[in-house]
Amino acid sequence: MSEGELRRGDVLLCQARPLSNVEIEATELAASAEIQIKMLPCRVSRMEKVAHDVMVLNLKLPASQRFDYLAGQYIDIIMRDGRRRSFSMANRPQPGQELELHVRHVPNGYFSSRVFDSMKEKDLLRFQGPFGTFFLREDSDRPAILVAGGTGLAPIKALLEQALHNAVPRTFHLFWGVRQRRDLYFHDLVQALAEAHDNVTYTPVLSETDASGEWSGESGFVHEAVLRHYDDLSSHEVYACGPPVMIDAAREQFIPRGLDPERLFYDSFESAVDD
Ligand SMILES: Cc1cc2nc3c(=O)[nH]c(=O)nc-3n(C[C@H](O)[C@H](O)[C@H](O)COP(=O)(O)OP(=O)(O)OC[C@H]3O[C@@H](n4cnc5c(N)ncnc54)[C@H](O)[C@@H]3O)c2cc1C
Repeated sequence: MSEGELRRGDVLLCQARPLSNVEIEATELAASAEIQIKMLPCRVSRMEKVAHDVMVLNLKLPASQRFDYLAGQYIDIIMRDGRRRSFSMANRPQPGQELELHVRHVPNGYFSSRVFDSMKEKDLLRFQGPFGTFFLREDSDRPAILVAGGTGLAPIKALLEQALHNAVPRTFHLFWGVRQRRDLYFHDLVQALAEAHDNVTYTPVLSETDASGEWSGESGFVHEAVLRHYDDLSSHEVYACGPPVMIDAAREQFIPRGLDPERLFYDSFESAVDD
């Protein structure tokens, strides 16, 4: 759990021991419950280094196997020694299509260093999934604010592409926060999506701008940019994905601005804890 979750008094029910009778209210999510979790082999069909520390991996699944997921969900890559690493699908599900992952290079990271240093196209991997409850709630017509930090763009891109494919009649405002201009690895693609759809707005935000004055867009932390654009979040839904500090900041600062906590959906890119 993140620092922010601990501060708020959140608990992991699977770890907690009740001291007396307790009543638990659970929200059932029919959409993800119907999808079968599978363990599958896959082949790395394409690798593209799209930024100094981001690799796009395409994974080809066995032709005989069907793999269903909801746009926004993730898989666990399982390494030979059993270690697991989570990565979100960056493309919307389509029958027979490859999975697209955006892998950020974590310095000395066990898996991501392998991706950058020794992985080759045609290598075999194994994964389990899909997991997660980060997907578009289709029972809502609220304007959606999408907040991505770094490779947190991956599930947000899948979610947005799926919504546009389904012609969901809602507005989507995507804020993508990174450090520097070079980190906006899919800037042209996202900008083209926004230009092609009247209901999509795109705001890139850099947290480290230099003195050259070349960047004329938004700067600062991405959640601050959201707050600058929206005084009142009470009629919105927020989908946020990225590093734990970004998710904590979003929770702590969006809810006092009126965001219904039930309308904040997020995946926090926590690092894995090995057994
Ligand atoms: C649900 C979910 C979905 C995710 N989806 C993605 C995704 O689509 N793309 C993506 O790039 N990542 C994603 N992540 C994060 C990714 O799983 C972790 O960063 C993973 O630990 C990287 O594995 P590694 O073996 O390279 O590094 P590790 O060996 O796990 O880490 C090495 C060291 O770096 C630290 N570390 C690990 N991750 C980070 C980090 N993000 N920032 C700073 N320090 C870190 C660790 O604490 C450790 O000390 C996701 C995480 C979750 C929980």
